[in-house]
Amino acid sequence: MLKAKMPKIPKPIRATFLFVAAVAILLAFTVLDGRDEKRTCPLHDVPLKVGSVPISYGLPVFETEYWKARTEQFPFANSTYGGGCMPKIRRIAIVRYCPICRDAEKEWETSAQPD
Ligand SMILES: [Zn+2]
Repeated sequence: MLKAKMPKIPKPIRATFLFVAAVAILLAFTVLDGRDEKRTCPLHDVPLKVGSVPISYGLPVFETEYWKARTEQFPFANSTYGGGCMPKIRRIAIVRYCPICRDAEKEWETSAQPD
């Protein structure tokens, strides 16, 4: 009987493959794709960038001043991602964000700090 011989994969390559596979599986369970279809910030008319942000779980309560500023000055800062009320395993979300909105949000947070 003819027996087909499989080529031996060197140990370092096998180990690298297993490491990459483990990282890919880990990311699949811990990272959420929170990107929506919008590609341009309607306020600043610049292309949105892609980045990762922490997912916050629970019911967010924003102060009125923050919510007003967020809506009017930095609607696409997307510096966090609301994951809903029930905590899940995922801790990181991939989102689209506007760099100008992010700067405006940071500036607002700095100026809103009490003396
Ligand atoms: Zn913007």
